[in-house]
Amino acid sequence: MGKGLYQHLICRIHDAGDKVFIASEVGDYLYSDIDENAAKIQQVMMGVGVSKGSRVLVQVNKSPEAVMLYLACLRMGAIFVPLNTGYKQDEVEYFYGNAEPDLCVCEQETKDRFTCAKTVMAIDDLWQMARQQSGDVEITDLDGDDIAAILYTSGTTGRSKGAMLSNDNLRSNVEVLSEYWQWSEDDVLLHILPIFHVHGLFVALHCALWTTNTVIFHNGYNPDNVIADLPKSTVMMGVPTHYVRLLENEKFGRDVCKNMRLFLSGSAPLLTETFHEFEKVSGIKILERYGMTEAGMITSNPYDGDRVAGTVGFPLPDVDARLGNIKDGKGVLEIKGPNVFKGYWRMPEKTAEEFTDDGYFITGDISIMDDEGRVSIVGRAKDLIITGGLNVYPKEIESLIDDMDGVKESAVIGVSHPDFGEGVTAIVVPDGSVEISEDIIINDTSEKLASFKVPKRIYIVDELPRNTMGKVQKNALREEYAKIYGKEK
Ligand code: AMP
Repeated sequence: MGKGLYQHLICRIHDAGDKVFIASEVGDYLYSDIDENAAKIQQVMMGVGVSKGSRVLVQVNKSPEAVMLYLACLRMGAIFVPLNTGYKQDEVEYFYGNAEPDLCVCEQETKDRFTCAKTVMAIDDLWQMARQQSGDVEITDLDGDDIAAILYTSGTTGRSKGAMLSNDNLRSNVEVLSEYWQWSEDDVLLHILPIFHVHGLFVALHCALWTTNTVIFHNGYNPDNVIADLPKSTVMMGVPTHYVRLLENEKFGRDVCKNMRLFLSGSAPLLTETFHEFEKVSGIKILERYGMTEAGMITSNPYDGDRVAGTVGFPLPDVDARLGNIKDGKGVLEIKGPNVFKGYWRMPEKTAEEFTDDGYFITGDISIMDDEGRVSIVGRAKDLIITGGLNVYPKEIESLIDDMDGVKESAVIGVSHPDFGEGVTAIVVPDGSVEISEDIIINDTSEKLASFKVPKRIYIVDELPRNTMGKVQKNALREEYAKIYGKEK
């Protein structure tokens, strides 16, 4: 018995027999369907030259068939490289050139994005061909260190880097999480996340597969559909925006959550206000955890102990975490553990830059750790604003503004300034309860903050730009407001 993730999963999958694996609008798949489908897809891929270690570049819509394709890659030891469905031709060409895949899989209507590819197949065609295969092909014997997937980081600075995740990285993380979050065979997972990202692909799907749970599979996020399926579910994973949208829906309440035992949130900070409001309305405390593409899950609030709003909990049992470059109690979180990736694909220098001399991965997340080891994320190192030579952490100012009456949320950025280097600038979304204005916010923050931290300008907008994972796109804001102080960087 080898050590690939699939090899670990297969006995569990066999034991689950005819239990439903994926329940979706387009049909159900049973646990007993998994290996047969994965084997047949493996045969099709082998037929076009894919072998162990080949990259398979995949840009497809969320579907049960896409999950089977992922499992087929795991089964044969091909490296699964999923792409955000929003990427256009130029971006696809970059990923193709970097990953050098032996096969690209896309949708029929997006084939023109892949003109650069030697071998490209629409997922429907691949599926049709798979039906005609015998399924008589061995599971590849893998080593735990073999790469299972390459996930490209969102690339907010420079070009995206491909994070190489080994079979052991993925297996160790799901093993810990299934225990930490107390998964049981009776759990039913409501799956609403995209499957090109660590959150939906690894955290959600792996936990369900490991404990052989039924997955209610939604293609895209629709609060009404979520509310309709919550009574049949016990666990949901989402990004903060998903929870905010539920709270805005009048049909959401305790009744629909009767069967729910766990709402998990991550990928972006959950506002304290959302945490409390959600508890008030549903009776359940959202469990916030923190992780990233390069390391899967890193910290989590406890299942049984206190779930504290505004914190991301404790390092997971096998994660060694510490703060580097501590200043005023804040430092960059550095981690070591079996979940930490093997480096960036074909970028050894970039990889080296992200590790300390003693082998800790530098997450880039500025954090606080209390005496018990509980972590709070207070910002991204690259978001740090330097104004008149002084460091300003946007999160501190955002929290203050968010607490003001009439404010829904805010984003604070540094914008090129002729006198200060960078000028602190706040973009604020009102909640409509009371009127807010630039003057009111500046006056209020002046009373509570050292003057160098007070925003020089405030912009009131309807909403903040966000990516699919709910992260505020500060790059887009920095670009939009680049010239407000008269000079671009
Ligand atoms: P990604 O690699 O796309 O998953 O993005 C990882 C980044 O998302 C982390 O480095 C954090 O900056 C951020 N992140 C993830 N979870 C949380 C959380 N619970 N609170 C705050 N930031 C988070």
